[in-house]
Amino acid sequence: MIVSKDRRQKTEDRGLVAAGRQSFDKDAAEPFDTLSSVLCPLSSELRGTLSHNVPMSRHTSWRAGGVAERMYQPADLDDLLVFLRGLPADEQLYVVGLGSNLLVRDGGLRGTVLLLHGALCELRLEDDGSVYCEAGVPGAKLARFAALHNLRGAEFCAGIPGTVGGMLAMNAGCYGSETWEKVLRVLVVDRSGALRERTPADYEIGYRHVTRIEDRGARSEGVGERSGFSQSSIPDPRSSEEFFVAAWLKFEAGDGDIARQEIKALLGKRIASQPLNLPNAGSVFRNPQGDHAARLIQQCGLKGRRIGGAQVSEKHANFIVNTGKATAADIENMINEVQAVVQQQTGIDLHPEVRIVGEYK
Ligand SMILES: Cc1cc2nc3c(=O)[nH]c(=O)nc-3n(C[C@H](O)[C@H](O)[C@H](O)COP(=O)(O)OP(=O)(O)OC[C@H]3O[C@@H](n4cnc5c(N)ncnc54)[C@H](O)[C@@H]3O)c2cc1C
Repeated sequence: MIVSKDRRQKTEDRGLVAAGRQSFDKDAAEPFDTLSSVLCPLSSELRGTLSHNVPMSRHTSWRAGGVAERMYQPADLDDLLVFLRGLPADEQLYVVGLGSNLLVRDGGLRGTVLLLHGALCELRLEDDGSVYCEAGVPGAKLARFAALHNLRGAEFCAGIPGTVGGMLAMNAGCYGSETWEKVLRVLVVDRSGALRERTPADYEIGYRHVTRIEDRGARSEGVGERSGFSQSSIPDPRSSEEFFVAAWLKFEAGDGDIARQEIKALLGKRIASQPLNLPNAGSVFRNPQGDHAARLIQQCGLKGRRIGGAQVSEKHANFIVNTGKATAADIENMINEVQAVVQQQTGIDLHPEVRIVGEYK
């Protein structure tokens, strides 16, 4: 296993255990990094990269937020399974793809971030014509792959700057298409490293909403609390401590050239309507039934409103941009203010689409 460290760490690597002695913060220094010590016997088997004190601003599209105590980027799916089998039962685990729908609070994340982008990258055409796509593959790559194989229906993925894992978790969609419409089966893993296949029938699927049916009761009893994602208003499959590692997707046979033209047109629409020159996380709020969050926010005169380095975009009112030095607190306070003003002026509750995790500073 490769042990990497953040630039802020001054000590040299002296193998896994020595690197594991880096503590989360000075006030809460731990004498020993339990994860590193538990994983140590596996270090010859593990091929991924374990890093300590990793600024999540590097792994989130908002380019803001605190530090992850540990981050593991597996080498591939087999390596991920070995890692999970060695993971202490009480270790908090956060799955992150491209961080394009994620705000990590300034106090950071205790536990381990599993970074799947750049890790689970397999993408192949199956004999039955379906596409096997691992969770770390970016949506844009999937769209190009489908077009290359003369498949239609993946074009919408091109403009979603997340991974297929994140798209499954969010049921990401745009321009009339949604991720789960294309899913034949998914491959999931639980924290013990057990793999299983599931079908869409195992999930309750809606607008930016995916919940495993078996988990609905468990979450309300607080299983989600343990997952570390409980601060989000949107349930996710982590309440079962299961996450997506791959999916088999079905697209229609068609003309790849037309698919490429469609991708170009959709990307053009985004450039025209979204503030892509500044760090952001796409639409912050889900659209309320029959209306648009952006319209309500604009109607309330909030376009351009600023808190610290966070600003409601002038170009698209449902985007909050980082104008340069926004903290996660600036962004979260901006989210709260938009919610409060819209509630006060229209009586409508806006619910965040973005996931907010981690500790306050
Ligand atoms: C400019 C911009 C435009 C956007 N446009 C759209 C759009 O048109 N439509 C849309 O729906 N979204 C859009 N988004 C939001 C975002 O890109 C999507 O939600 C995307 O699916 C998130 O993927 P990710 O890999 O970045 O997930 P992350 O942000 O890394 O994670 C998001 C959530 O998914 C969970 N997750 C990630 N991977 C997995 C996994 N493998 N298994 C289980 N859970 C997992 C995480 O734990 C977290 O709770 C946009 C974002 C930006 C910045």
